[in-house]
Amino acid sequence: MYYVSTRNKQERCTAAQAIARGLASDGGLMTPEVFPKLSPNGLVTLRDMSYQQRAVFVMNSYLDDFTSSELTSFAAKAYSDTKFDAPEVAPVRQVDSNTYCLELWHGPTCAFKDMALQMLPHLLTASLKKNQESKTVCILVATSGDTGKAALEGFRDVDRTRILVFYPKDGVSAVQELQMNTQDGGNVGVCAVLGNFDDAQTGVKKLFSDENLREKLAEQGFFLSSANSINWGRVLPQIVYYISAYCDLLRDEKIQKGDPINVCVPTGNFGNILAAYYAKEMGVPINRLICASNSNNVLTDFISTGQYDRNRDFHNTISPSMDILISSNLERMLFALSEQDDALVREYMNQLATVGLYKVSPAIQSKLNRIFAAGFCDDVQTKRVIGQMWQEHNYLIDPHTAVAFDVLNQYRERTGDSTPTVVVSTASPFKFCDSVLSALGVSELAQGTAILDQLSQHTGVPVPTPLAALKNKTPRFNQVVNKEFMVDQVLEMLK
Ligand SMILES: *Cc1c(COP(=O)(O)O)cnc(C)c1O
Repeated sequence: MYYVSTRNKQERCTAAQAIARGLASDGGLMTPEVFPKLSPNGLVTLRDMSYQQRAVFVMNSYLDDFTSSELTSFAAKAYSDTKFDAPEVAPVRQVDSNTYCLELWHGPTCAFKDMALQMLPHLLTASLKKNQESKTVCILVATSGDTGKAALEGFRDVDRTRILVFYPKDGVSAVQELQMNTQDGGNVGVCAVLGNFDDAQTGVKKLFSDENLREKLAEQGFFLSSANSINWGRVLPQIVYYISAYCDLLRDEKIQKGDPINVCVPTGNFGNILAAYYAKEMGVPINRLICASNSNNVLTDFISTGQYDRNRDFHNTISPSMDILISSNLERMLFALSEQDDALVREYMNQLATVGLYKVSPAIQSKLNRIFAAGFCDDVQTKRVIGQMWQEHNYLIDPHTAVAFDVLNQYRERTGDSTPTVVVSTASPFKFCDSVLSALGVSELAQGTAILDQLSQHTGVPVPTPLAALKNKTPRFNQVVNKEFMVDQVLEMLK
């Protein structure tokens, strides 16, 4: 199977090349040319497998330059019980008669990014070997909070890799910032950028296209790659958990073979929900993909009008990992919906870069509306939902997950659709203690890491081990840069 750039189908490469490069040289995203289909009995076969086995089965169908035994060893390491505190890895909890919650935050950094970022370093280092690459890979990451820590933890002390993370100074929670600034490892660097996530992300994209920087780094034996969800090695491991969730529902006889489900995903960069779309393409009976946003509701508007318009105010919300106005992975969705019309995708992306908006063709819009539903929810409503879920179901959820539950409620009221629905839970509530406690009616909040115990004592829910460990750590990193000076920071950190 070959991978092509969403902006130029002529640019073809192998999976190992796509993963090593991260981004196509024309700025497009590397995407499989064709999508493998699960055989009619594929889901039944997968039903009786462990999470790790399901991961190997699914990834194998996309990575024909990797062997099953390689992937088996990667899955065993990435999803081991030393990394994940749930034996199911990605457990599905039943919330009510037709609502389920897929918990993706049982990994080492307590956010769903671990699902992919525990796997990516294995895929990437193996890809470098396959490509006979002699340089050291330098991973640049722009993070809205969770990717940074998950990438640092995934790549920590991995041979022949360096990892540099840029996060928006005022756009992450206190726990998220502490998680990053206390990161261990000899190959890691962390730096705050003045501005919001889009500033950090645009800054990192500029670094990737900076020929001068590339040359300098090459002289020092480095080449740049990405661990953001534009890298195919991030998207692929995410397809696995949608298939896995469906298999769990089958195994536990909550649904029968062939029954449809909906999924509702709290969305920022569109990577997570894109993986759900690919699972649907592979043959998982998913009816509707419900795209949930916070007040940065650019995707809600896009899905209802067909016009993507980033010219709007940016809001810092209590679900910061979704504070995004440019959803990079939407480009792959446009590529799929346009039947791989690379010229059209190039045109839309060009309009987005120059005037900040584009409107898709009626053909694309009607497909979009068949597949997706969308909605958004503000901070006040997000907190209300956290409180309700706790009171009515004794279930503690984080603000991102709460956005999804609210948008699902809105969708059900609007449509009357009662299809069993899997809501994707993307972070542990302990990453966002202040918002969660205030949603539960607590007004006096403890300082620093004591807030973790406060939430635990208030609810009786234990603090996840990796977050409890923060209490004994001192920050290693405290740099803050203006986005114009990110280049200098990269050169400095690689010294
Ligand atoms: C990254 C993240 C999201 C958004 O996921 P995308 O793949 O960017 O759409 C949602 N919630 C949490 C907690 C996240 O860390």
